[in-house]
Amino acid sequence: MNLNMEFVLETLKDLMSIDSPSGYTSAVMELVEKIADDLGYGFEMTHKGNGIITLPGLDPEYVVGFCAHVDTLGLMVRSITDQGSLRFTKIGGPVLATYDSELVRVHTRDGRVYDGTVYCTKPAKHVFKESEDKRSEENLEVRLDEDVSSKQDVLDLGIQVGDYICLDPKLVITPSGFIKSRFLDDKLSVAILLGVLEYFSTNRLIPSHTVKILISTYEEVGHGMGWIPADIQELIAVDMGCIGDDLTCTEKMVSICAKDSSGPYDYDITSRLAELAKENNLNYCIDIYPYYSSDVSAALRGGQDIQGGLLGPGVFASHAYERSSIEAVENTMKLLIAYIQD
Ligand SMILES: [Zn+2]
Repeated sequence: MNLNMEFVLETLKDLMSIDSPSGYTSAVMELVEKIADDLGYGFEMTHKGNGIITLPGLDPEYVVGFCAHVDTLGLMVRSITDQGSLRFTKIGGPVLATYDSELVRVHTRDGRVYDGTVYCTKPAKHVFKESEDKRSEENLEVRLDEDVSSKQDVLDLGIQVGDYICLDPKLVITPSGFIKSRFLDDKLSVAILLGVLEYFSTNRLIPSHTVKILISTYEEVGHGMGWIPADIQELIAVDMGCIGDDLTCTEKMVSICAKDSSGPYDYDITSRLAELAKENNLNYCIDIYPYYSSDVSAALRGGQDIQGGLLGPGVFASHAYERSSIEAVENTMKLLIAYIQD
């Protein structure tokens, strides 16, 4: 199996270069549409902004869906202080302790973009005893890199309540093969699915069943795949594999999830994924995710009549500054391709 890792890593860089917290994904979806187009596959968009890419199969009657989410965690302006800094509300569930000192971009509704930094409200070690306090929405704020000292100064920049504040993902691919970035959950999986699409396109392969790749835009807030096309019988979420206490997964593996907080995944799909991983000598594990639910959970809660599975590359330090590896990407892609060709 000849995987085009250069394509996957370039796609990951392109996805990371566009800010896309849940609810602010139209720019990144334009990129996804262009990639699908360039590879020769049809792209449709749902009313809410999710993408559907179709690979026609030999048997068009049986449709398998694979979903990954391009939306990320982020922040939104909650209020502007009299001193001209921004208080914020969270989009999704970030580990706020890791947000201190991160670089951000504020996007105004008329298209202007301003740089800033997340700081603790009492940040200087030489001045404040509180500089070591636990971080929360109450003691973090955004300071803009603009000459502002009042609320009016900020309003004059065109910044208002409800504007998105986006963190710099800080993508680094090390010579040793590690991939470090925020939002590997789940842009790494989007790059993986587009890499699988590239594999089928370049090698002129037709899947045995029709495959629909679904790109979700509201996963981090819980309802990404609440609706899916009615012809999908199986839905497999490609989302980050958990690493930590009690878990087998490493940053090199593809993780197959048997159960998460939303309950067990489909028995047959999970078993078939594990068999295929074994047959193909992949570095894999089956794990239970303690605090997790996926877009398959959202689809099932939305009332979809599907069998659901979950797999993904092992990602360390999720919802903080995350790390995975090229090896995990390869293991995940190989498992997906084997499943599609099975
Ligand atoms: Zn995710």
